[in-house]
Formats: sequence, structure tokens, C-alpha cells
Amino acid sequence: MAASVCLIDSQYSDQISTLLKSPSPNQVKEYFQELIAERQCNGLRVNPEGEHGKGVYADFDFKEGDLILKDQMLVGAQHSSNKIDCLVCSFCFQFIGSIELQIGKKLYLHELGISADECGPSDRTECSSGSFSDRSPLLRDTIESLMNDSMQLPFSEKFPLPSVVSCPGGCREAYYCSESCAKADWDSFHSLLCTGKGSKSSNIEALLKFIQHANETNDIFILAAKVISFTILRYRKLKVAQFENPEKQDAINLYTNYGFPMLLEAWKPVSMGYKRRWWDCIALPEDVDSCDEAMFRMQIRDLAFTSLEILKEAMYDKEYEPLFSLEIYGHIIGMFELNNLDLVVASPVEDYFLYIDDLPLSEKKEAEKITKPVLDALGDDYSICCQGTAFFPLQSCMNHSCIPNAKAFKREEDRDGQATIIALKPISKGEEITISYIDEDLPYEERQASLEDYGFRCKCPRCSEEGS
Ligand SMILES: [Zn+2]
Ligand SMILES: [Zn+2]
Ligand SMILES: [Zn+2]
Repeated sequence: MAASVCLIDSQYSDQISTLLKSPSPNQVKEYFQELIAERQCNGLRVNPEGEHGKGVYADFDFKEGDLILKDQMLVGAQHSSNKIDCLVCSFCFQFIGSIELQIGKKLYLHELGISADECGPSDRTECSSGSFSDRSPLLRDTIESLMNDSMQLPFSEKFPLPSVVSCPGGCREAYYCSESCAKADWDSFHSLLCTGKGSKSSNIEALLKFIQHANETNDIFILAAKVISFTILRYRKLKVAQFENPEKQDAINLYTNYGFPMLLEAWKPVSMGYKRRWWDCIALPEDVDSCDEAMFRMQIRDLAFTSLEILKEAMYDKEYEPLFSLEIYGHIIGMFELNNLDLVVASPVEDYFLYIDDLPLSEKKEAEKITKPVLDALGDDYSICCQGTAFFPLQSCMNHSCIPNAKAFKREEDRDGQATIIALKPISKGEEITISYIDEDLPYEERQASLEDYGFRCKCPRCSEEGS
């Protein structure tokens, strides 16, 4: 089997290597200074040339338990298999609708999945982790009245959720918590990826094919498409701004040459993420023998190539052709692979049932007449949270330690897709902020093995001691 060839790779090799070049220390510093000011997390500073390369440092003293950072994602997506269980805003990822809608929709889709086998065979195991035989089915009309809000569960008013706003493009895939989230998503990502009538995609059929391929193979492709869409939309905004700004008339004289510098500027937020080619950095699955490694990596590359070919049909434009090279596509996916940042939002449905369980006995008995059959129908999966993958620009600059001084931790009030970093111990000004990329309770050898997937050997104080 010969490796597939991407012609754009060779045609634009210079531009591609410029896009993939690591930004200079000054560019890194400037970019993150601006970002930190925007985030209003002023206790931080990104040092482009710290002890382990780029790192995040404390700019004042933190106490144990202090909030260090709330990091807004650059791009993220809910896992497609998780969409059955949780209805969340496609932009900020908070739960939307109502407790009744969350439950009704989940039961409805699970029932559909069972009878019509909606999800593909590879998806099945993932989307129904619990077995269905141990649940008692709720009557179809109860499910329907939960979904259309004609049935109210006791005390659900204690758990209000924002009402559902539909996608302005008219697809039935994206939903939002507010008009402002709908607009922000449309302007930054979704207008080129929407499959509704109002979509700005030139080929909705190809787009549907692309999404289906991603759902059947690896939904990391959806994230990569979001990054490309984000870059194109930023490029267009920059272009409009340049033509509208009379002070920059000079730049227009450079018309023939302005395309690429502007693409580079549009790409800047993505350029800050550490990346390698996906097929070079992906961890070899345990069931693949090391002598088949080359073959495995080529198959992964071919899979990315197939996905990219379909995406090109949906979004291709000559103006930003280098973005559609396999090199760029592979590096974008590799960025998610290497930075491996989970998107997790706790479910209000879980809170709701815990609340019912905690009621005074007489009230609880009364409420459970209604809630118990619902809980039984949901089974053990009632508490599934929103899960996905995201790229958080600041969190991804934090280096690893097996005795970290901070960790990603969602507090009770953190109900959206932002990453929250909390101090695990006092951190003094000037100290590097570290988190653990792995389960730090593992023994030395296993920690080092897990960290190999991130491409380094850990030399933190604990490893130096245990390894010697
Ligand atoms: Zn939202
Ligand atoms: Zn849409
Ligand atoms: Zn270590």
C-alpha cells in the first residue's frame, strides 16, 4: 500500500513550514500577556524560556485552594457519543433546557438507539455504557411529556437551566444557552460547519459526509475542522478590517502579497499550541505489535487524509489553500493529541436526584412516587456528565510535575466548559505553576511510561529522587 500524496503539501511547502514554525519568545510573551489581561487572571505570567521551555509562573502569592485561572477554550467539542446523554450549549457547554428535557431527551434517544440502532456499530459500546436490560422502561408518553415540558418533576424548579436557543443557521445539531453564545459560535466556528439552510458552507452534502466520517472513525476530526473554520473566519474579519481602516491603505498596495501574512496572523492563536504530526505522536495502542508500528502510523495518516479530502469538498477555497494541506491537518490533530485536555461539565441531573435523596423523609417519599420510576429508567447512567475535548491556551502552557502545585478542578459553581485551575499548596510569586498530566499516584516506572506519550521523561524532584 503506497502512502497517499497530498499535492498541497509540496506546492505550499514554504508557507506550511512558516505556519508550523514555533513562534519566537517575544511573540509568545506578547500573545499571552494580552490573553492574561483579557482573562483578568493577573496573577500569572507565561515565560517563553523557562526551566522546561514555555511555562506558566505565579505573579503573586497564592494560598492553598485559591483559584489560579479560569481558562476559556480556544476550541472544543462535546464527544458525539455524549450528545445522547447531555444537551449542552455548543459554545460554552453549560447544560440547557430543563431537568425534564435533559432526562426526557436522553431516555428518548436511548430508546431510539435500541430499536433503530441509530449509532454506528463502533459507537454502540461507547454510547450505552450501562446495559439496558437492567432498566425499567418508562412509558413512551411519560418520556414525551418530559421532553415537551408538560410534565414537571417535583423540586426541579430548584435547578433552573437557561432555555434552549436554536442555531441561527437552522441545523438541528447546535443549540445554545443564549443569543450571545449562538452569535459567538456562528462568528467564530459554526457558520462554515452548519448543516442548516443558512450555512455558509459551499457544500452541505460534503459537510454531512465529513461529520458522519468523523463520528464513525474519530471525532477529533470535528475539532480539527473547527480550528480550520476558526482560522478562515478570523482571516475574513482581518481582511474586512484592513479594507475598512483608511489608515492602513498602504497595506492594500501590497494586495498581491497580503494574503499569506494575513493568514499567518489569523492562525496566530493556533500557532501558540505545541504540536507534532498526529501519526507521528499518537501512542501505539496496546494491541498493535511494535513490528507493525510503521503500518499503523501509515493507516492513521491515511485516515486523516480521507477525512481531509471530504472536508476540502465542504470548505475549500483557493485563498487559504495551505490550511488544507495534510501537514497542517495532521499537526492540528496532533495538537489535541498532545495537549489532551478534557472538557468536563457536571450534570445538574445528578444534583437533582441527590437533592431528592436528601429531602426530609416525608417529602422524599412523596417526591419519589414520581422520581423513582424516572431514576429506574435512567439506570446507573443518570449522572453522566458532559464530556469532550478542548484546547485551553493557558492551561496547555503549564508544565507537568509528579508533585504538582496546582490541578484542574471544577468547583460547585463552575458549570461551563472553562478550565479551572486551583492551587494545591501555597505558591509564591515567581514559582512555576505545575499540574500533573497523568495519575500521579502511579509508581515511578508507570509514570514515566505514561509520560512517554507526551514525548518527555519527567525529571521533577520526585522522579529525580525515585529514579536514582
Ligand atoms: Zn452558552
Ligand atoms: Zn447550525
Ligand atoms: Zn515526575
